[in-house]
Amino acid sequence: MKLKILGSVSPYIKGKENCPGYLIEKDNIKLLLDCGSGITREMDLPKDLQKLTIVISHLHRDHYADLLTLGYATYVYNKLGILNEKVKVYIPKDESFDKTYLTNMNEHFFEFIYYNENTTLRLNDLEITFNKNPHPVLTYSVKVKDDNHTLVYSSDTGYSNNSLEKFAQGTDLLICETTFLTNQKGKEDNHLSTKEAGEIANKAKVKKLMITHTWPEIDKRLYLKETKQIFKKTIAPQTGKVLKLGRW
Ligand SMILES: [Zn+2]
Ligand SMILES: [Zn+2]
Repeated sequence: MKLKILGSVSPYIKGKENCPGYLIEKDNIKLLLDCGSGITREMDLPKDLQKLTIVISHLHRDHYADLLTLGYATYVYNKLGILNEKVKVYIPKDESFDKTYLTNMNEHFFEFIYYNENTTLRLNDLEITFNKNPHPVLTYSVKVKDDNHTLVYSSDTGYSNNSLEKFAQGTDLLICETTFLTNQKGKEDNHLSTKEAGEIANKAKVKKLMITHTWPEIDKRLYLKETKQIFKKTIAPQTGKVLKLGRW
């Protein structure tokens, strides 16, 4: 399983940093976890649209804004005869969201499919499962498993009542949000601090932790330093970098 980091900041893009997006590749199958603003510029098009499945963790704009850009790319490549298979886009069935905004979007070559906590997706030997997070809108963390490795992407989550620790138990890589430096976390519990992410990684006994969803104005090294104090085997995401799971 290969993992390409397309973006890892929120809530907006800055310089070369994009909002969250992680592209997983196994054989010729591709899975894109979240489609945040700016990630299209890190994709290899039209190649990456072939055999591509997209999973949107939740319907907050920092996680789906580039669907509009990528959707238009699928439309154009289909018209050119280069893309002949619709790109499947899995979105949570969130009644509070006006889904027509996405599904009635003109000029795309997407197929929208709803998923929930009971959905198991299989793409060749990749198995994808979901776990509900405490967050203001319906949000899922995502687990991707092949014969050798597992990866868990937390997406956005509060700390209280989260079950990420169980869902990510023993995983090779936990990509976990660290929205706040420890002293920034206020009373609202919609996101994790570096300390909380480190604690989850410890309890889940993950092999590696990657921070994500950091503020574009703050140096990632600050988040990394704080998280490492709680969980040593922590790494920071580098936009455009490709990692091979299990080989660090
Ligand atoms: Zn969110
Ligand atoms: Zn977010």
